[in-house]
Amino acid sequence: MLTGKTAVVTGAGRGIGKAIALTLAERGADVVVNYSSSREAAEETVREIEKKGRRALAVQADISKEEDCIRLFEQAMEAFGSVDILVNNSGITRDNLAVRMSEAEFDAVIDTNLKGAFFCMKQAGKIMMKKRSGRIISISSISGVKGNAGQINYCAAKAGVIGMTKCLAKELASRGVTVNAVAPGYIDTDMTAVLPQKIKESVLAQIPLGRMGTPEDIARAVAFLASDDGSYITGQVIQVDGGMGIG
Ligand code: NAP
Repeated sequence: MLTGKTAVVTGAGRGIGKAIALTLAERGADVVVNYSSSREAAEETVREIEKKGRRALAVQADISKEEDCIRLFEQAMEAFGSVDILVNNSGITRDNLAVRMSEAEFDAVIDTNLKGAFFCMKQAGKIMMKKRSGRIISISSISGVKGNAGQINYCAAKAGVIGMTKCLAKELASRGVTVNAVAPGYIDTDMTAVLPQKIKESVLAQIPLGRMGTPEDIARAVAFLASDDGSYITGQVIQVDGGMGIG
């Protein structure tokens, strides 16, 4: 159980982040629901968490900006007095073939998916080092493990998240903080809804378990890593992908 713990979940208004926020709340955590532009959705997540009897607060912050991340953690500390769990979930795509990709497309994905995770790790790390306990869980991707055509920016950022996870796990282990990543495969959210039907069918054909994942499939893996059951796991990447990444 996560009773008495406070979690900061980035991008928790919708998609995988929302499922993570709700699952952590079901297991007893209070949740800071970060959003960038989806205010209504974040407020709805807060209402759903409160219905479960937990406390929640929606905080707007563009995680690609360090000053916003500093404010996000200040507001979390003011509201709940602690941050015990950080889930770096926010992410965007700007897909294009490498030879056609603009610097702006490359930078946008690196700034949000890689630097944003770093900025939040830095703030959470400071709080957790002092507490001598904590859990940092970042949502990487199968694309960061295996590569994926048309996503050179996204693959770089998601592989970078794995590198940062391993680095920080070593830096914070002696302070009782575990740092892990979850690498989803093909999950049914707004991010994948925009893919052309032909691509969807070809990706589905590569999933041994024969179905897309749900946001809840990812949320349960995150909740496991956040719980006492995950206390001896650090610096790892758990692939939650229906077997897509086997081999
Ligand atoms: P999604 O439905 O498109 O949601 C993306 C989330 O990221 C939204 O909550 C969004 O918040 C937030 N976000 C984007 N830019 C932000 C910024 N600058 N600052 C703060 N928050 C920001 O995507 P999803 O499928 O749930 O993906 C969640 C995570 O899983 C991402 O890291 C993604 O790369 C990863 N992932 C997804 C899949 C998949 O198949 N869906 C597979 C592998 C990995 P706002 O709406 O407020 O902007």
